[in-house]
Amino acid sequence: MIRFDEVSKRYPGGHEALKQVSFELEKGEMAFLTGRSGAGKSTLLKLIMLTEALNQGQILVGGRNINRLPSRQIPYYRRRIGVVFQDHQLLFDRSVFDNVMLPLQIEGFDKHEAARRVRAALDKVGLLDKEKLNPITLSGGEQQRVGIARAVVNRPQILLADEPTGNLDPELAAEIMVLFEQFNQVGVCMLIASHDLSLITRLKHRMLTLDLGRLIKDEHQPSRARSP
Ligand code: ADP
Ligand code: ADP
Repeated sequence: MIRFDEVSKRYPGGHEALKQVSFELEKGEMAFLTGRSGAGKSTLLKLIMLTEALNQGQILVGGRNINRLPSRQIPYYRRRIGVVFQDHQLLFDRSVFDNVMLPLQIEGFDKHEAARRVRAALDKVGLLDKEKLNPITLSGGEQQRVGIARAVVNRPQILLADEPTGNLDPELAAEIMVLFEQFNQVGVCMLIASHDLSLITRLKHRMLTLDLGRLIKDEHQPSRARSP
């Protein structure tokens, strides 16, 4: 589903954020991307989203070389990928319902079908009873759930998340991970960037580790983190 072949990325100014990174994620696979701050996690996700361009190598998504996509196809490509951010980027001038509706509005969905999908997504994240509220009135964990509902509402085959639990306490963070596992179980391919090793090593998913831009580890059954 996602394949990196010897991918390197150098930012203007000369900093090499990714160095010859290669890996492959199968359809429906769930993996964590870890490494300390500055290791290149966000950069790797941005290359998949085509919000940054690579300098060397190639990235295939669904068998297509995304760096050869004609520019008019890029918006369409991006809509097939759900993205969850640490700061969830919700709009506080509208309700929870309308926030989740946004991606479907952009795609020009029929109103009735869109409303049904929005409610299905809110139901998945356990927020059906909060659809009319302004997200500013919700807790941090609930806001993150709204962000997740918005990311999955158009049923993407791929879900990317960049430090999705960075602002949450451990209990809420664990709940968010359970949600991700549920989406993975319906076949969504997931790549989740997180430096929270104590949380992700407990979950027994594949773990890709970056260090200074290099992929230094690819563990399919990560060993348990030792308690501090
Ligand atoms: P992580 O997500 O693992 O913290 P990043 O991908 O954000 O790492 O950053 C990797 C490296 O690239 C860091 O050294 C960072 O300073 C650098 N970097 C990130 N974005 C830019 C940019 N737009 N311009 C220049 N350097 C950048
Ligand atoms: P629907 O009535 O739209 O089929 P379901 O109750 O079956 O909805 O649940 C589907 C929900 O699962 C979607 O609204 C969405 O929240 C989530 N989902 C996200 N991506 C996918 C996917 N690729 N395949 C299936 N479900 C997905």
